Amino acid sequence: MVKAVIAIHGGAGAITRSAMSVEKEQRYRLALKEIVACGQKILADGGSALDAVTEAVRLLEECPLFNAGKGAVFTHQGTHELDASIMDGRTLEAGAVAGVSRIRNPVLAARAVLEHSPHLLFIGAGAEQFAASQGMEQVEPDFFSTPERREQLQRALQSQQTLLDHDGEAQSQSDDPLDPDRKFGTVGAVALDLNGNLAAATSTGGMTNKQAGRVGDTPLPGAGCYASNESAAISCTGTGEVFIRLLAAYDVAAQMTYAGLSLAEASRKVVQEKIPALGGSGGLVAVDKQGNVALPFNSEGMYRGYAYVGGDVDVAIYRES
Ligand code: ASP
Repeated sequence: MVKAVIAIHGGAGAITRSAMSVEKEQRYRLALKEIVACGQKILADGGSALDAVTEAVRLLEECPLFNAGKGAVFTHQGTHELDASIMDGRTLEAGAVAGVSRIRNPVLAARAVLEHSPHLLFIGAGAEQFAASQGMEQVEPDFFSTPERREQLQRALQSQQTLLDHDGEAQSQSDDPLDPDRKFGTVGAVALDLNGNLAAATSTGGMTNKQAGRVGDTPLPGAGCYASNESAAISCTGTGEVFIRLLAAYDVAAQMTYAGLSLAEASRKVVQEKIPALGGSGGLVAVDKQGNVALPFNSEGMYRGYAYVGGDVDVAIYRES
């Protein structure tokens, strides 16, 4: 009997508990709960893991609380450049888009690449043309802008920081509970369906104040997203450059396959040892072919949640200690 399950994340980072108002925390918890419940229902109705992660990430993109789709961060040049990827553990097929600013839901474009293109990764204008040819909804780039993100960019510009420089001194004045100057807000989902198939999807606006043209780990299968029915499905959030160098998502699966590690051991090793050793931070959500779930992160917090079919929805933000 397969333990069908979905797990999601809404980014990891430096959490300032004191900045988290009760009202704000409720909004995050509710959003996470609703999105997990929606993925859980797709799985309970016999839907595929691929459909469950697509819809969960689409909903996360639509929610302005998270840095993907609407609510995406600004580049240094004041634009938006969104990245997304998706992978099917059953076939090892994947699709991805990078540096797009007109596709309302980058994860749907990534899914269309997976299903309808011989290619795997499209960038920029070509990605937008492909998405348009597939009938995807297009928006003006300022659709993604929110006043909160514009403020973040102003702060980052003033302090001459990029979000990668998250060890900087600057303290946010906003009430964003994850200090936006030290936060990774990528979103992602992993799932195991009733047929034993695994899938993963990840989507992001990238890092506030990143240089135009910079691409992180999110649209790179193996780095920010990976799924194989032989091992596990993984979706990452954190210092993209480090996740790319380590092929972090694939490394979790590889350690399970080649070294016989459990999902918990493999993901702990990557997140708590290998990423920090290269100066990176962040976390991931992962599920293996038996339905075990791991949600490790090395930052102060990570928006996260999961639910088994027939079980309760569990959401959390802070470190459990
Ligand atoms: N990993 C993403 C990137 O480097 C950032 C994030 O996780 O928020 O673009």
